[in-house]
Order: sequence, then C-alpha cells, then structure tokens
Amino acid sequence: MNYAFDFSKYNNIAVFPHSSPDGDAIGSAVAMSMYLREIGKKSIIVIDDEIQYELRFLLDYTDFIGYDEAKKLCNDWDLCVTVDCGDLDRIARRKDLVEGKPLLNIDHHVTNPNFGDFNIVEGDAPSACEIIYFILKENAFDITKEIGEAIYTGMSTDTGNFMYENVRVQTFEVAAKLLSIGIDKAKIIYNLYQNNRAEKIKIHALAMDKITFHCDKKLAITHVDEKMFEETGASVLDTEGISESLRDIEGVEVSCFIKEKTLEDGTLQCKVSMRAMIGHDLSKIASDFGGGGHKAAAGFTIDEGKDRVKELLLEKFDI
Ligand code: 5GP
Ligand code: MN
Repeated sequence: MNYAFDFSKYNNIAVFPHSSPDGDAIGSAVAMSMYLREIGKKSIIVIDDEIQYELRFLLDYTDFIGYDEAKKLCNDWDLCVTVDCGDLDRIARRKDLVEGKPLLNIDHHVTNPNFGDFNIVEGDAPSACEIIYFILKENAFDITKEIGEAIYTGMSTDTGNFMYENVRVQTFEVAAKLLSIGIDKAKIIYNLYQNNRAEKIKIHALAMDKITFHCDKKLAITHVDEKMFEETGASVLDTEGISESLRDIEGVEVSCFIKEKTLEDGTLQCKVSMRAMIGHDLSKIASDFGGGGHKAAAGFTIDEGKDRVKELLLEKFDI
C-alpha cells in the first residue's frame, strides 16, 4: 500500500469528516488537521453536525468550524481532505465548499470509487485512523501524544475496541506504538465506553424491546421513532450502538436498526444501520438502496416509513 502524499505544495488545508461523524471520522480529521498544523500549515476541520457525546473530548484538541463560517473561508483553501468518506455524498452539502479545489480522499471503504484527485484508499484497513498513522509515518513525522489519542479513538471505535475480524497484525502494532508514546488510553476508553448518558440507556432499552427475529433467528430487526425519543429524552446521538447490540445476540448473523423521522414536508424517512457477522456482505445490499459501507457494517437512507422499510429488508435478505 502506498501511503505517500506530499503536502509541501499546499498551505491552507480544510479537512472533512463524513456527516453524522463517528469516532473514526472525528479521530482521523483531528489527527490529520493537527498534523498539518504541526508541519506549519493552516488547517481547519469543517463539520455540519452535532458531535456524539462520547467524542466531544476531541473537540478540545483542535479547531472546528461549521458550514456557514467555512463558506466565508473556502476561497483561501488550496487543498481539501476528506477522511473516512466512502463517497463524496458523505459530506452532504459541504460538497459546495470542496468544489474546484484539489481533493485528497483518505478512506477505508471497499465501495470507495476513488472520487478524489488524489486517493489513499485501503479497503483492508480497519479504520481511516490506521491509514492516517501510516501516512504520518511515511512523512517521517514523530506522532505527538494528542495526535496519537485521536488516532487511537478511531482505531478503537471502528473495531469494536479491537474485537472485529477486520483487525490485523498492524492494527495491534500501531496501537502498541501509540501506547509507547504515552497516550492516555484510560481517558479515551472512559469517554468512549464508560460515561453513558441515562437517556441513551433508556432508548436502547426501548429499542431492545421492539426486536423482531427472522430467517431462523439469524436476522434481527428493530427501530426507534419520534415517540420513543420523546418518551426517553434521548437524542439521535444516543442510538449509537443499538445495531451492534442486536448483532451480538445468540444466533443472530445480521442486524438491521431502523431510525424513523418525519421530514419538514411530512415525508417519513428512515436511516438504516446494518451489522453482520463474518460471511456476509452488507455493502452490496446497502448499495442497492443507494447507500454503502463495509461487508460487516453498512447503511442507507430511504424515504419510506419503518414498516415499509422492514418489508423491503425482509425481501432482500436470504440468509
Ligand atoms: P452506520 O450504520 O454506523 O451509520 O454506518 C455503517 C457503515 O456504513 C459506515 O462505514 C458508513 O460509512 C456506511 N454508511 C452508512 N450510511 C451510509 C450511506 O447512506 N451511504 C454510504 N455510502 N455509506 C453509508
Ligand atoms: Mn471508518
């Protein structure tokens, strides 16, 4: 794998994690942007979403701006970098800001069509953060404690804390290197996994109560809707992890978690998160619905209500 990229020609660089950013998206954006500042560049991260509670500790590491502020600054950028984005639509309306500028695409989704002018895409990498580590090493950079913590965050969240099949020998080697430079692993793990909001636990409980099993109990499906958010006081950010809990039930091979909401014009829309055990390829199914992802974790958004979405999923799965 070629991780080489020469940043020397560029001086003002904007970094874009995907919409509804997860730990890997925020971790890789923070690591990349901090690195660019360390080597003397101007750099900023552009986000357009609320950040999950668990990841907010990373907001203190560097600077983030929203869409409106970015709109004012974007003419000065000479390079844009997307991280953890399987396709360019993953940055949603921020696509406007990238238009006409050289684009570096750093990603680990097998479905990535290499949409950048420059592409460092490694489908076998378990996280974009792991790729960032190798890019920084390739550029002979001594990784700082803070950058290491950002990288470790994404490595942990995209691998179920080093549990999934996608974890490779290098993953542990990188993690070991990061520990050896003195990152505060306890702080990262506390923030990510040991500081759950009560509202989160309540909406998880409601979702668990609605599980239905199909295909000889190999497929588990559940949903949350607006009523459940009202009842628990949870935010959509609190639903992170529900699809994983379903997948981890005895006998279950594939899980689908449906989040339903009503758009301003009254249309029902669902975001579907799918997870699978080894031996399935969800990225194909997600692509059929206009989404994407990995074999073991994929998703899509569809303008239908939850009952119809469940029917569509049941037609699709033959396991
Ligand atoms: P999640 O279920 O956590 O939202 O996403 C799981 C995986 O599927 C992630 O790797 C994410 O990038 C991908 N994914 C989720 N939703 C979409 C989507 O609408 N489009 C694409 N291209 N990928 C998605
Ligand atoms: Mn990722």
